[in-house]
Parts: sequence; C-alpha cells; structure tokens
Amino acid sequence: METISAIRGFKDILPAEAGQWLFVEEQARRVFHAFGFRDIRIPILEKTELFARGIGESTDIVEKEMYTFTDRGDESLTLRPEATASILRAYIEHALYATDPVARLYTIGPMFRRERPQKGRYRQFYQIDAEILGLDDPRVDAELILMLTHFLKAVGLTNPHVEINSLGCPVCRPGFRSAVVAHLQGREEELCGDCRRRIDTNPLRVFDCKIESCRAAVEHAPRLADFLCDACRVHFGTVQESLGLFCVPFSINDRMVRGLDYYTRTTFEVTTDVLGAQNAVVGGGRYDGLVQQLGGPDIPGIGFAIGFERLVSLMPRVAEDFRRTPALFIAALGAEAQKIAFELANRLRLNNVEVEMDYAGKSLKSQMKRADKLGCRYALIIGDREIAEKSGVFRDLRNSTQTPVGLDLASITGKMEALQRGVEDLV
Ligand code: ATP
Ligand code: MG
Repeated sequence: METISAIRGFKDILPAEAGQWLFVEEQARRVFHAFGFRDIRIPILEKTELFARGIGESTDIVEKEMYTFTDRGDESLTLRPEATASILRAYIEHALYATDPVARLYTIGPMFRRERPQKGRYRQFYQIDAEILGLDDPRVDAELILMLTHFLKAVGLTNPHVEINSLGCPVCRPGFRSAVVAHLQGREEELCGDCRRRIDTNPLRVFDCKIESCRAAVEHAPRLADFLCDACRVHFGTVQESLGLFCVPFSINDRMVRGLDYYTRTTFEVTTDVLGAQNAVVGGGRYDGLVQQLGGPDIPGIGFAIGFERLVSLMPRVAEDFRRTPALFIAALGAEAQKIAFELANRLRLNNVEVEMDYAGKSLKSQMKRADKLGCRYALIIGDREIAEKSGVFRDLRNSTQTPVGLDLASITGKMEALQRGVEDLV
C-alpha cells in the first residue's frame, strides 16, 4: 500500500533528537522558574479575531501566514501563529490580574505559519515564549533580557548578539511615523510592491523588509532615537544601565522595528551569524497597550519568543550528545533464562533503572551487538550455568571486565552503583 507522508513544512522530532529537545526544555524551565515564571498552557486553536486584533491586520503574519479555516459551526478559527495573543486572552479571560498584579507566564509549544519552508523556517515550529504582565519598570525589561541570555548560555550559546531598540510610545511614535511616511513618499519608486502598500498601512515595517532596494531606500530615513519623548528616553536609558549591571553585552539597533504591530518602547532580538537570512533566534519586546486592545484593563507587558528549531541548530552540542542509553542490557540464553530476565528487567524498571533485554531468543553474539548499538554501559548475561550457580555474569561494556553477580535486584543495582562510583569490585 502507498505510504502517507507528513505535510510540507511540518516535521517530526524523532527520539534521536528528542533528548536534545528535552534538555533545552529542562533548562528553560529551571531558569524561568528561578525568575518567578509559571507555566501556562493555552489552546492551539483560537478565534481568528484574536490574532487579527492582537497581532495587527497589516502584519505579514495576519495578512498571509495564518492557517485559518471555517469550522463546521461557521466560525472562523486559526491555528496560533504565536503565543502572546493567546496568553493575554487567557490572562484577561481569567482575570489573573485580580489575584496578583504581576504575572510571569511562559509556555513551550508549536506555532503555525504558512510560510515557504526552508532551512530554519517551517510551517509548524516550536517556540519558548515568556511574558511579564503588570510591570512597566524598565529594570524589568533588562531582567527579562538577562534571563534570556542566562538561558541561552545554559544551553551552550556562548556568544549571542543581543540587539535592542526603543520603539517609543503613543506620545512620540506618531511624529516618527509621519517623518518616515514623508521620507518613503519621496522614494516610492525604489520600494517593492509590499512596501509601497506599507506606506499607508504600516510604514515602519519597511525597515523590516529584506529586499535590497528597500533596505537602501530607508538607509537615510529618520531615526527613531531622534523622536523619543523624554519618558521613553529615560526608560530606554535605564534598560541599558540595568543590562550593564550584569555585563549583558548588547548593541543598539535603531532600525529594528520587529514584525508585530503591538510593540512599544523596548524591543530586542537575538541573532547569530550562523543563521543567514533567517538570522533571528529570539524576538521580543514591550507591548504596553496590548492588554487593553484585547479588551482587558490598562496593564503593561513585555515578552519574548525563542525559535526552538533555530536554537537547537545553533547549539554546540548536537543531538547525539543527548542520546538516552539504557544502563543495563540483560542477555538471556534459553527459555529458563529468559523467564528470569523478563522478571528482573521489569523489576529493575519499576526501580527506575533503564533496562533493555532480548525477547527473541537471539544468540549471545547478536544480543551483545544490540546492547552495544543501544549504548548500554553494562550487560548481565544469564545462561543455564548461571541459573544453576544462581549468579549471572556482569559485564562492563566500556572496558570489557566481568564479574559474577547475584540474580536479584539488590545485587545488580549494588553492582551498578559500585561501578559507577569507580569502585571496581567489592565482592
Ligand atoms: P523572521 O523574520 O525570521 O520571519 P519573525 O519576526 O517572523 O522571524 P517572531 O514572530 O519574532 O519571528 O518569532 C520569534 C522567533 O520564532 C523567531 O526569531 C524565529 O526564531 C522563530 N520563527 C519564526 N518563524 C519561524 C518559522 N516559520 N520556522 C521556524 N522558526 C520560526
Ligand atoms: Mg516571519
């Protein structure tokens, strides 16, 4: 029969890669918990309106990347393209602000965007997403970036480039926006079709366009730094000072506007040279008006999203380094030995020892070959003679030494522990 393959741009994370993914998740949880974050799990499907309102009608995501369909009940639904809108929806819906004025929330899970699949760009991809709600203190912006860089170090990224910028606020951004519009109107013929449209809909997005002529057209465009109001200037100054306190290296990129409409004040990206055109591994920023825009109270917020696949591709340690290997392989020769092996293997598993065995009655040679392939550290060999003597052969597969061991749980686990401590043979 014909086989069925996965959808283009959707990929499986196989057990061989999963060890690395688990490691990244464990590090994220450990670091985020220390910074007061708590796990939140939100649905993968939401009403389309949430993203239209929460991300912005004139963004790439909403304009052309969403997986939207009409449900049987004639409702328009969308597979989440990012997590912030959903987290804020849940925050407002459950009035989390009523129990505590500050919420630090994170989630790890798949996002969906219908983009052209290529290296580092999928249609289903994972993000690690963190949001702080209820604080507009600039030190919190620095704290979030500190946590981010600490996490990146924990997974082995030694030299991430953190770029920061301030996008201003509703007081100062309109002035900047008008100046940019005036600049772009003068150079309209150099812009791509998308950017020409953006002059009216979303002029700042032209800074984000990857097309060469558009980049050139904005090279001498007005700079946001010259338009920031006093409050935004002080805010941005404190962010930088606070980052300095922890020696977090960063650079200011005043052309970074980020793709989403909702950002205010501090925005940031983490990039590396390795990723090329898809060079951002993390994107984030402050969104002080978003909770209100989604129908909630006037509560400020800031967050980031890490691209999981891009992060994994940057780690110096590769999937193989995180491979899970059974601690022990039980090789049984003959029906009677298999009976003992079966019982021992599962009793050991019930005691959290990772054990593998052979169920097919293969030769000793082929069983040892499999133990080796699985990467087992130890093997326990049981044959007729061992049964008669009530003691198996315990082999250290790394240095091929072997000693007898009693065929009971305590003897086997005792042996493994002794060997792991480096005490060769105590018996
Ligand atoms: P890009 O400019 O690369 O399209 P973006 O601005 O759309 O990124 P964000 O919405 O800020 O990305 O998402 C945060 C992170 O999620 C990105 O920095 C990236 O690492 C990751 N990401 C975004 N889109 C994809 C995708 N299609 N496949 C894999 N990872 C992605
Ligand atoms: Mg994108």
